[in-house]
Amino acid sequence: PVQAAAPGTVTPTHCPYCALQCGMGLARAGEGVKVVERPAFPVNGGALCGKGRTAPAVLSSRVRLTEPLVRSHATGGLVPATWEEALDRVAEGLARTRAAYGADACGVFGGGGLTNEKAYALGKFARVVLGTSQIDYNGRFCMSSAAAAGQRAFGVDRGLPFPLADVARTGCVILVGSNLAETMPPALRYLTEMKDNGGSLIVVDPRRTRTAEQADLHLAPRPGTDLALALGLLHLVVAEGHVDEEYVAARTSGWEEARAAAMAHWPEHVERITGVPVPQLRETVRRFGAAEHAMVLTARGPEQQAKGTDTVGAWINLCLATGRPGRPLSGYGCLTGQGNGQGGREHGQKADQLPGYRKLTDPGARAHVAAVWGVDPESLPGPGRSAYELLDALGGDVRALLLMGSNPVVSAPRAAHVEQRIRSLDFLAVADVVLSETAALADVVLPVTQWAEETGTVTNLEGRVLLRRKAVDPPPGVRSDLDVLHGLADRLGHGKGFPTEPEEVFDELRRASAGGIADYAGITYERLAAGNGEGVFWPCPEGTEGTEGTETAGAAGVPHAGTPRLFLERFATDDGRARFVAVAHRGAAEEPDAEYPVLLTTGRVLAQYQSGAQTRRVAELNAAAPGPFVELHPRLAARVGVADGDPVAVVSRRGRATVPARVTAGIRPDTVFMPFHWPGEGRANVLTHPALDPVSRMPEFKVCAVRLEAPG
Ligand code: SF4
Repeated sequence: PVQAAAPGTVTPTHCPYCALQCGMGLARAGEGVKVVERPAFPVNGGALCGKGRTAPAVLSSRVRLTEPLVRSHATGGLVPATWEEALDRVAEGLARTRAAYGADACGVFGGGGLTNEKAYALGKFARVVLGTSQIDYNGRFCMSSAAAAGQRAFGVDRGLPFPLADVARTGCVILVGSNLAETMPPALRYLTEMKDNGGSLIVVDPRRTRTAEQADLHLAPRPGTDLALALGLLHLVVAEGHVDEEYVAARTSGWEEARAAAMAHWPEHVERITGVPVPQLRETVRRFGAAEHAMVLTARGPEQQAKGTDTVGAWINLCLATGRPGRPLSGYGCLTGQGNGQGGREHGQKADQLPGYRKLTDPGARAHVAAVWGVDPESLPGPGRSAYELLDALGGDVRALLLMGSNPVVSAPRAAHVEQRIRSLDFLAVADVVLSETAALADVVLPVTQWAEETGTVTNLEGRVLLRRKAVDPPPGVRSDLDVLHGLADRLGHGKGFPTEPEEVFDELRRASAGGIADYAGITYERLAAGNGEGVFWPCPEGTEGTEGTETAGAAGVPHAGTPRLFLERFATDDGRARFVAVAHRGAAEEPDAEYPVLLTTGRVLAQYQSGAQTRRVAELNAAAPGPFVELHPRLAARVGVADGDPVAVVSRRGRATVPARVTAGIRPDTVFMPFHWPGEGRANVLTHPALDPVSRMPEFKVCAVRLEAPG
């Protein structure tokens, strides 16, 4: 196995938080570690945001779980237990449920922060040990609609089909619904460099975010109308002669239908839907159409909608019509959010997938993976429910849940309802590093290791597979998730199939992924540890054969070098062509009305991360972002009768949150914004709408109707 660096040396590793997976060094400091720069890692060049810089604080035993907890039958509270007791209780809870109600009464819920090895082992555990179809993960809430749109258009979903460095060298970027100046600050340098080279940055966001402030052009559409916006832009691309006819004829299919759908969306009509003035639409098309190289990058804004797949599809259509995907320094990409958001969706913790990004319904995929697992393909369950549907079924036909690396009490839509469903379970086991709001409801809490205490791989938003190395021993009493799965599998009669060494799990994962879309077969720990640790891009098949359509296919006698750029020769569809999809605008699941007249959109702030389970335990981050708020325009504030700093109740059909008002002219007057990092009175997700995208099952986090009430 790859060893942790000796005391006194610096361990090169990666941040535990977002999908940029910034490189950092960890140097021993007393009993713990401190972060040092790692400038040789290409993605961030040494730069880190405050979350990464302060990440070692979460290693401290003061803020985390260091012994298993079980719910006392006598008092109803959580009390310390031995690992044997705790694992016995979990195994008994799952076995009892399965015996009483069948395998599908056991649910498994994973996370986009789990390493590739853990995500793989969790999917295998659900399907082989429990035999349940009921597994999904919180990445469903993150970028699943972009993944579905990418699959539909290109035959493969890799967040960015090109390295981030290409962004600095392109001529125009339309950045849709991403506030990367706050969510992944070191990535901003690519946009700045692009602008310094004469390129244009166009930001689409209903708020004038720190990212939008950097833009040459800021389009501020009404939340939920990004699809209409993309259609209006495609209409103008056609009308103003920017279609790359040669590319469309040679490399795509379905153009006529997509073109006809876009031509039905006249710019003036699009202005009425979105609120973006026609001259801004024209200016966007002029800049994007004229650029020799250009990209559209999306993030949660257009993706977290009940029409997210079609919305992203509309932006992909814009890229295809102008001949971008598969061309140098051009194309479409999704800025995946969670730390292992990319790898987390490739290895089988998703309800409909097997390792290698294979479809669970594909007989060939089932046979391949079953052979690696040493089981009968017929024994593998079929697809299960998506994340929200699974949470909604808790206490109904799903009676027990094993949850790893997620905090749905804070992060799920319609969170009060989800919390009530979790409370109604017969049995809940949670593995986490801290006592999250969800862990606090569990029957058994298992304290597990985290990033710097264990070795494992992650795959960043570029599809770059990276080695995170152990730098420090975990506190006594803490075990890895792989140990937990081994211990449970052993108790349930399957111990042999669940090794605890990450490298051993990775080697099995490589075999399971071989020949799949996300092929890791040619990637080894040894390769990942070599050089600057810059990682290897998938697909990377084993052997020396090159892969058609890649820039860096292996030369004769040299291992496959990985694939930084996809689609250069062909797309991953059956006929090698990218597919346009004809899409039309439709409204949000819940539009404003007289009772709930304002649009709510949600998101993140610089100093907190996701449900805040880790970052809310870091003093420096809490000082920078101490609590929730609602951002609203001065005109709306005046109408409601609140001033900056006043408490205000934000009320939807699903719940109420009371938070301080933050009054700013940098948001549309018809829209309010809330970050979703906090529990309690300011829990934004009690308000959000659980309507699901029909293709990806992504919930509609980004738009719902609310009203504002000034207190008494
Ligand atoms: Fe960590 Fe993301 Fe910040 Fe980089 S940008 S330091 S990966 S949270």
